[in-house]
Amino acid sequence: MADEMNYIQYYPTDIVNGEGTRCTLFVSGCTHACRGCYNKKSWSFSAGMPFDEAMEQQIINDLTDNRIKRQGLTLTGGDPLHPRNLAVLLPFVQRIKALCPDKDIWVWTGYKLDELDEFQRQILPYVDVLIDGKFEQEKADPGLAWRGSANQVIHRFKL
Ligand code: SF4
Repeated sequence: MADEMNYIQYYPTDIVNGEGTRCTLFVSGCTHACRGCYNKKSWSFSAGMPFDEAMEQQIINDLTDNRIKRQGLTLTGGDPLHPRNLAVLLPFVQRIKALCPDKDIWVWTGYKLDELDEFQRQILPYVDVLIDGKFEQEKADPGLAWRGSANQVIHRFKL
């Protein structure tokens, strides 16, 4: 069976999930089960809609649309770095960086950077900003930029 992934939501023009105006994809499937998760409906890998070739092309069209300039793409969820999702997203981000090298890629994940396995680390060369770690309710702080709780870390690899 070919690698498959579902997504919960796609925002073609988004200004709240990363810097600048962005395309944002919320993927389906997460196994971290954080207490107080803001998006429990995204835990199931079968939630939402299939991420198909048309959706992939839609995102590339939006990223290259000169009428509304996007700074880049945000991948969140769910967990984009769950290996099931990564199998689909790794070739996708490789395609994006080849077609639109000026666009940045932000990724939110419940894994910590230092616990990523060899496969998961393959996406890092294509990621400009990674926000890592589970949401921890006792460390929640609505005043934090780009993070839900203070344990999470913003890793700026390129920006
Ligand atoms: S990693 Fe994110 S989506 Fe997954 S359970 Fe935690 S807060 Fe929810």
